Amino acid sequence: MASDTSRFDLFVIGGGSGGVRAARMAAQRGARVALAEAAAMGGTCVNVGCIPKKLYAYAAHYAHDFADAAGFGWDVGEPRFDWARLKANRAAEIARLNGVYEQLLADAGVQVLRGWAELLDGHTVRVRTEAGLQTHAARHILLATGGTPTLLPVPGAELGVTSDSMFDLEPFPRRLAVVGGGYIACEFASIFQGLGAQVTVLYRGEQILRGFDDEVRQFIAAEMIRSGIDLRLGSEVRAIERGSAGLELTLDDGSGLQADTVLFATGRVPNVNGLGLEAAGVRQGRHGAIEVDTHYRTSVPSVYAVGDVTARLQLTPVALGEAMAVVDHLFGDGRRRMGYEYIPTAVFTHPNIATVGLTEAQARERFGQVAVYRSDFRPLRHTLTGSGERCLMKMVVDKATDRVVGLHMVGPDAGEVVQGFAVAMKAGATKAVFDATIGIHPTVAEEFVTMREPVR
Ligand code: FAD
Ligand code: NDP
Repeated sequence: MASDTSRFDLFVIGGGSGGVRAARMAAQRGARVALAEAAAMGGTCVNVGCIPKKLYAYAAHYAHDFADAAGFGWDVGEPRFDWARLKANRAAEIARLNGVYEQLLADAGVQVLRGWAELLDGHTVRVRTEAGLQTHAARHILLATGGTPTLLPVPGAELGVTSDSMFDLEPFPRRLAVVGGGYIACEFASIFQGLGAQVTVLYRGEQILRGFDDEVRQFIAAEMIRSGIDLRLGSEVRAIERGSAGLELTLDDGSGLQADTVLFATGRVPNVNGLGLEAAGVRQGRHGAIEVDTHYRTSVPSVYAVGDVTARLQLTPVALGEAMAVVDHLFGDGRRRMGYEYIPTAVFTHPNIATVGLTEAQARERFGQVAVYRSDFRPLRHTLTGSGERCLMKMVVDKATDRVVGLHMVGPDAGEVVQGFAVAMKAGATKAVFDATIGIHPTVAEEFVTMREPVR
C-alpha cells in the first residue's frame, strides 16, 4: 500500500512532548524516523499548556510581589498591567521554542511531515500535507496525539472557551467564571485573579482538586478565597446566554452570574478522531483512550501509544518517560521502565501546590498504621509584608517501615522544593533519613527535615 521510497523504522504521529522525545531518541540510536505534526511543533505543553501557563503564572505572582514590597521599604507606585504586552512576549517566546523543537528534530535526522496523519493499517500512515496526500510505510508506528479540552453539554456552552483560548483572550476578561475544580480550573483562577480579573470558580463537588490530600485541598481553597477568588462549591452551570452586560450564567440553584469569559476546565479527552484507529484495529477504552500494555504496545503489535492519548497520567514528564521506554524497547536493550509510583506533580496556583506519593487517606488504606507530620505556618517573608498567606507542609510515614510515603506542600515555589524531595522518596528514604538530614536555614524547605512530632 505504501510507497517503498519512504519506509521508516519508526513513524511518530504527533509532535508534542511524547512524540518529539521518541522521534529524537530513536533517530539518535540510528533508526530512520519520520514525525507528522498537524499544528505547531511542541504540542500542548509548549503551545497552550505548561510553558505559557507558567509564564502567565509568573506574571500573576508580580501582583502579590508588588503588594508585598511595601513592607520591605519599597514604594513602587500604582502598578499597571499591560495584557497586550504579556501576550506578545509570550507569543514570541513560544515561536522561539517551536523553532528550537524543529531544529532538534532536524539535527537528529528526523524527517518532519507537516499535516494530519492517519493510520491505514498497522504499518501504513497517510499524511495530508499541503503538497497532497502522502503514504508512508513503517516497521513501527507511535501514536502520540495527546488530548483536547471539552466543553460541557449545557445550552450555550459554545459561548464559553477552553484553556486553549485563554492565552490570547481579547479583551482581558474583567469577570471570569471558571467551571471545574481540577488543575486547569485552579491554575487559571489564580492566574487571572492575580492579573486583575474578578474570578468565580464553580465546582460541582464538595472540595476542589479531587485526588489531592484532603488537607491540601482545604488549605488551597482557603488561600484562593483569601486572595479574592469567589469559590462556589456544589455549584453547576445549567445554561449560558449572551446578555446586554456580558454572558449570563444560570446556575443549578437557580441563581445567575455575569461574566465576560466562561472557561470550561472540565477535563481533556484523547485526540483520536480521524486517526484511523478503527480501520487499523487499534483497541480503545473510555473516552476513546488508546489501550496499551506494559510496553505501550496497542492491540496492533506494530503500533504503540504514549502520553495523553492513553489517558493515564496527563503530565509532560510522564509522556517523556513513556516515550523513552518505548524507544528503549524498540531500539535499545529494553531495560528502561517507566515507574508510576512517586511521580511528583505541582499545581501552579497562588501559592503553589506540590505533592509526591500518597495522600494521608491513601496511605491509611494501604498501610493501616501511619504517622502524620504537619506544619502550617506564616513564611518568614510574610512577617514583614503583612500578608496573611500561609504555608502547609505535610509528610505521611508508614509506621511499619518508617518510609516516607507521602509529602505535600502548599507554599512558595512548592514545585521546586518537592522535586528534590521526590528523589529521596523514590530512593525509599525513611523518616530517620529525613531527620538525619541537615536543613538549609532559613528556608521554607527545611521544615521537611525538622518536623519531629507527629500530629497523629
Ligand atoms: P501533546 O503534547 O498534546 O501533543 C500531541 C500533538 O499531536 C499535538 O501537537 C497535536 O497537534 C498532534 N496531533 C494530534 N493528532 C494528530 C494527527 N492525527 N496528525 C498529526 N498530528 C496530530 N503537564 C505538566 O507536566 N506540567 C504542567 O504544568 C502542565 N500544565 C498544563 C497546562 C494546560 C493548560 C494543559 C492543557 C496541559 C498541561 N499539562 C501540564 C499537561 C501536558 O501539557 C500534557 O500532559 C502533555 O503535553 C502531553 O504530551 P503528549 O505528547 O501526550 O501530547
Ligand atoms: P482535571 O481532571 O484535573 O479536572 C477536571 C475538573 O472538571 C474536575 O474538577 C472535575 O470534577 C470537573 N468535571 C469533570 N466533568 C464535569 C462535569 N460533567 N460537570 C462539572 N464538572 C466536571 O482536568 P483539567 O481539565 O483541569 O486538566 C486536564 C489534565 O491536564 C489534568 O488532569 C492534568 O493531568 C493536566 N494538567 C496538568 C497541570 C500541571 O501539571 N500543573 C496543569 C494543567 C493540566 P470532579 O473532580 O468532580 O470529577
